[in-house]
Amino acid sequence: MDFKSIIRDIPDFPQQGIIFRDITPLLAHPQGLTKIIQGFQTKFAELNISAIDTVVGTESRGFILGAPLAMALGCSFVPVRKPKKLPSAVFRAEYELEYGTDALEIHQDAIATGERVIIIDDVIATGGTAAATAKLVEQSGAELVGYGFLIELDFLNGRQALPEVPIVSLINY
Ligand code: IMP
Repeated sequence: MDFKSIIRDIPDFPQQGIIFRDITPLLAHPQGLTKIIQGFQTKFAELNISAIDTVVGTESRGFILGAPLAMALGCSFVPVRKPKKLPSAVFRAEYELEYGTDALEIHQDAIATGERVIIIDDVIATGGTAAATAKLVEQSGAELVGYGFLIELDFLNGRQALPEVPIVSLINY
């Protein structure tokens, strides 16, 4: 499946000069999610990344892709959420935005020490979101063994912001 021809490019969203890659038409395609999940499984297998205990998905499109991947792998799914959404005790990681900071949280008891974890999101841009998610996995005492992104925006060099773990991206711009 040619993902790029189905993903919709929206100029000047959410602000002037940004081309937003809108994955909703791909999610709406009857085979879209299946092909994305198969793509992740194939690429992780090629990198010999196996015995994954937990898929961590980052709010919110990381939930849409991470949950079916966890089902396909037969492993746990754990959400990383924006602040004040999770009801029990959390670890918190802050990260820089263009103006100010934001934060992400994970339940402290969601991942057990030593678990093998992959982080899933729809897009890696500057890498700030994925780097903060990686900090939460580290605080949980788990072992981060890979990242999976549907889209990598190469020109923003987001992978440089991440701890050195294999990165799977299904399409690049
Ligand atoms: P980063 O923190 O700069 O790497 O931005 C990644 C986060 O922003 C991800 O959670 C994405 O969902 C979101 N994001 C950034 N650019 C796009 C885009 O073009 N389409 C969809 N989501 C995007």
